[in-house]
Amino acid sequence: MNETMFIDPQRCIGCRSCVAACRECSTHKGYSMIFVDYIDRSETTATMPTICMHCEEPTCALVCPADAIKQNEDGVVMSALKPRCLDCRNCVNACPFGVPKYNSAMHLQMKCDMCYDRTSEGLKPMCASVCPTGAISFGTYEQIVPLRRTKPVNAHVFGNQSVKTKVYMMLPTDADEVSVDGCGVFEGQIALDGANVSEESWIDTQVEESNKSNEF
Ligand code: SF4
Ligand code: SF4
Repeated sequence: MNETMFIDPQRCIGCRSCVAACRECSTHKGYSMIFVDYIDRSETTATMPTICMHCEEPTCALVCPADAIKQNEDGVVMSALKPRCLDCRNCVNACPFGVPKYNSAMHLQMKCDMCYDRTSEGLKPMCASVCPTGAISFGTYEQIVPLRRTKPVNAHVFGNQSVKTKVYMMLPTDADEVSVDGCGVFEGQIALDGANVSEESWIDTQVEESNKSNEF
């Protein structure tokens, strides 16, 4: 499978069609494997869809003591295998993108597997098939990139570590990597330690406002 996902946050209008479509997929029983978050709701209407980035060396699989998370020959990192998942949540804590969720009712880690049941048969993932703006696209590099003015980037830098992914982020043309330190979390931490302690930190606001947790 040469196709992959292209995520363009600048195109996301926060409609959450992708979330609704993902819930419809019968393989994950009404739970959405995609999350759409506000970046900083008091300052901007910008929203950001998050799916599994399908890392070339998936940390979730590396830390799984039961070898429950498999990466297939197409580079797609699958959800945990139910008979193997031990409920340990190592993968939930280890993923640098905060993607896997633990389903306490099902005793199972769940995450986006790029709708492999659909994509392996030539269909688009549910989210990409409904996104009205092209914020989530599925196709080959050659199909998608000539249609865009943005640049596909799949290197994500966390401090001294760089993670390469099968999924691309569409960024301004001068970007070579996604600097995760630059997303605002680090600035929030500085605010916590800084002189102006009465000023609410970015990260505290986000945690309070977010309905995102690592459990269903
Ligand atoms: S469907 Fe597309 S535009 Fe709507 S919230 Fe999801 S990513 Fe954003
Ligand atoms: S983004 Fe997280 S869940 Fe997806 S492959 Fe990478 S480490 Fe695993």
